[in-house]
Order: sequence, then structure tokens, then C-alpha cells
Amino acid sequence: MTEESFYVREPIFQPLDRFTKAEKLELLMWHPLFTGKCPCCGQKLAGSIAECECGWKDELETKP
Ligand SMILES: [Zn+2]
Repeated sequence: MTEESFYVREPIFQPLDRFTKAEKLELLMWHPLFTGKCPCCGQKLAGSIAECECGWKDELETKP
């Protein structure tokens, strides 16, 4: 295995291409897509990561 092979495995941000780099970094901090948890109540999201039992919804999904 060469060192190069590590650089090929970059994370894929395709669904977030409409966001800037800074916005992406912010998303990484809390978005369930990355954390697997609801940013509102903190419980683990098993099914949909776009909404939670507590009423939280991923507003980014509807962002124009
Ligand atoms: Zn929640």
C-alpha cells in the first residue's frame, strides 16, 4: 500500500455541493448526516436523518 492511496479516499460531499466550504465545515459539526444524531435533542437518528421524533426537521433539504 502506498501513501498515495490514502489521498484517494476523500470524503464525498456531493449532496452538499451547493454549500460553501465554511458552511460545509459548520454542517460537519452538527448535521445528522455526519453525526448521526439529532442536533436538537441529541438522540440517535436511525431511520430518516432529515427529521426527528422531537420535531426537528432538516431545513436544508428545503433550502432554495
Ligand atoms: Zn430530536
